[in-house]
Amino acid sequence: MTQLHQSNQPIKTDLISPVSPIIVAIDKPSLNEALSLADQLDPRLCRVKVGKELFTYCGPKIVNELQGRGFEVFLDLKFHDIPNTTAQAVLAAADMGVWMVNVHASAGLLAMQESKKRLQQAGHDTLLIAVTVLTSMTEEGLKGIGIDTSVTKQVEQLALLTKEAGLDGVVCSAQEAQRLKQLCGHSFRLITPGIRMADDSADDQKRICTPSQAIHNGSDYLVIGRSITQAQNPIDKMTQILASLN
Ligand code: C5P
Repeated sequence: MTQLHQSNQPIKTDLISPVSPIIVAIDKPSLNEALSLADQLDPRLCRVKVGKELFTYCGPKIVNELQGRGFEVFLDLKFHDIPNTTAQAVLAAADMGVWMVNVHASAGLLAMQESKKRLQQAGHDTLLIAVTVLTSMTEEGLKGIGIDTSVTKQVEQLALLTKEAGLDGVVCSAQEAQRLKQLCGHSFRLITPGIRMADDSADDQKRICTPSQAIHNGSDYLVIGRSITQAQNPIDKMTQILASLN
């Protein structure tokens, strides 16, 4: 089935919803590189994440191309602006037919509530989640922007604010997942990057978890980049990861 996007471009709606919790981060600087990676993946085994770099290079075309291959897309653009602008950006993402989109919780309660409201008014069931504190942020970094509390407390406060705004969940470290499920409830979705198999390199990630630890802690979706994208055979690696969850 095909429906018309606001810009009158057709978007495919025959997407495959995998049972798998894996979201592969397509962190590539061009359409060709991104699509040649996507062609080594399988929409029955994972969803894909498009971030700021890839989207800034390629625009909506990359989302269309991935959806045309059956992939559900998490558009990771972390919107942070005044309520009207944040909400309109979220709506634009939903109009592209993405499966999930995110905002910064620090944009505030009103920006999150307005975003959720506009999705509902437009009849979109796009998942809307928030980023609490970037994992690159330290307590000293928070002090530098005038926030005098621990990273953990700030994450908890912003997760509760996200829940109050009616959003579907937050991006967090798998090491925070257990606490956030207790605090925000079972149906509040947790999306966790920083995932590595025991024999993978940690790369630049500091607080990593294995896929099975992350799921055990309460993660609903695992964002996995290099562990899969730099594997000799990405599908084999994904199958190995999925097997480790059983
Ligand atoms: O290659 P790797 O598995 O480390 O990739 C993780 C992905 O998740 C990257 O796209 C990274 O930008 C993203 N991410 C993250 N930490 C966050 C939010 C997003 O690693 N807190």
